[in-house]
Amino acid sequence: MTQPLLPTSIVGSLPKPSWLAQPETLWSPWNLQGDALAEGRHDALRISTHEQTNRGIDIISDGEQTRQHFVTTFIEHLSGVDFEKRKTVRIRDRYDASVPTVVSAVSREKPVFVDDAKFLRRQTDQPIKWALPGPMTMIDTLYDDHYKSREKLAWEFATVLNQEAKDLEAAGVDIIQFDEPAFNVFFEEMKDWGVAALERAAKGLRAETAVHICYGYGIKANNDWKTTLGSEWRQYEESFPLLQRSSLDIVSLECHNSHVPMDLIELIRGKKVMLGAIDVANETIETPEEVAATLRKALNFADADKLIPSTNCGMAPFARDVSLAKMSALSAGTAIVREELSRG
Ligand code: ZN
Repeated sequence: MTQPLLPTSIVGSLPKPSWLAQPETLWSPWNLQGDALAEGRHDALRISTHEQTNRGIDIISDGEQTRQHFVTTFIEHLSGVDFEKRKTVRIRDRYDASVPTVVSAVSREKPVFVDDAKFLRRQTDQPIKWALPGPMTMIDTLYDDHYKSREKLAWEFATVLNQEAKDLEAAGVDIIQFDEPAFNVFFEEMKDWGVAALERAAKGLRAETAVHICYGYGIKANNDWKTTLGSEWRQYEESFPLLQRSSLDIVSLECHNSHVPMDLIELIRGKKVMLGAIDVANETIETPEEVAATLRKALNFADADKLIPSTNCGMAPFARDVSLAKMSALSAGTAIVREELSRG
């Protein structure tokens, strides 16, 4: 299907209905079990597809309705990781968390999200996008007692991710997105092998591939970290030149209400830009005019046929009405700029 100019999208997660999981909480426990949970997750996926469509979103995401967490749920389905054996480690140099341990070779015995992706495919004729964690972000949420090398473990995960991505593509997913917030933190590793591992994960796909790099959900640990980053956030300056030369098609970045200088977008000229025009750390609903202003600024550094208006990150921690209103603001603001572009 032909896409409108400036197709809108969300980065990933949406709040789950309260009958499915505790609202406004990350890692929130399911409220259903067994067959009822399986049915409930698909019902939630159906609703979130409908809501995105209603609110004018052009590229439909799963909203992470069928998974508890963007990294952990994928890892739970792999062998080689022991979830009973836990260690406390520092995540992205920011906060401590109790994490599972890699105890033997990691592998994917069977597809993880493919049935859910097939279900999503049946719900809409619009392009669909599915997010997976990136290899560097995965290793950062585990204690490794087997490979004892972050690089080696990242390469193993890249292989596993590539298997899953190919199955998602076969299920009809149009865009495979890898979430790599670790690219904003571990610059040396990213340069040495992080981008190469990501390209390995995306290798041989006909689907478009995206990488999402952000400053995290609007949770306290992230908000505290942001206050230490100074008045200009130039972290993207480290990853963008490498990504510009990489095989990835789309780069998803945080923008509105952040201290990211817009001209850094120039560093990925030629790639599609998924631009965060909606703040996820603040419940205030953007006005369409605010969204339009952000997009107009971005168009100084990105070509109109390569701009995808989006959110800064996932919206799972919001109340549902907030996330719905933010999606409406995104599409209303985009409509203003589309109209301006059509007038030339
Ligand atoms: Zn994010």
